[in-house]
Amino acid sequence: MKTQKIILLLGGNMGNMDETMRSAISIIHNSLGTVSKISNKFKTEAWGPIEQAPFLNIAIEVKTIFSPQLVLNKILSIEQKLGRKRFKKYGPRTIDIDILFFSNRIISTERLIVPHPQIQFRNFALIPCNEIIPNFTHPGLNKKIKVLLNESQDNLNVKEI
Ligand code: AMP
Repeated sequence: MKTQKIILLLGGNMGNMDETMRSAISIIHNSLGTVSKISNKFKTEAWGPIEQAPFLNIAIEVKTIFSPQLVLNKILSIEQKLGRKRFKKYGPRTIDIDILFFSNRIISTERLIVPHPQIQFRNFALIPCNEIIPNFTHPGLNKKIKVLLNESQDNLNVKEI
């Protein structure tokens, strides 16, 4: 089967986040495929209606042979394994893993939307992505990540740590 490059965004704002991110990357490497790029860590102000601690975000590139559906299943089980508890929508969480891009495919099913529909509106996704794939063209918007970041209207604080 053909290897495809995918971009995942890891985030969390509860518990020992460094440790959780390290474990997530190691499990991803062993179960999804080679982790070929890792962004720096970013501390990002929480977006949304709930007042909560800032998030730690990291974007990674993974080379996988698995289908998008299988990648989603594996990601959901990694979240479970690392103790994700869903308290409320948009609320605090130990780990969240989103599929931002799946090579240059466009997927829209009930369970999976790729590219992730919020990328262009969220600096916490654009800034870590811009570090690892600035010249990658968003297949739906036909713009490079660096251009989307330049055009972003989001002004939540995202700081490299
Ligand atoms: P949340 O953990 O709140 O981000 O939501 C997870 C759910 O969003 C999953 O169960 C997926 O079915 C759905 N989903 C849709 N598109 C994506 C995507 N690009 N990456 C991750 N989850 C997605």
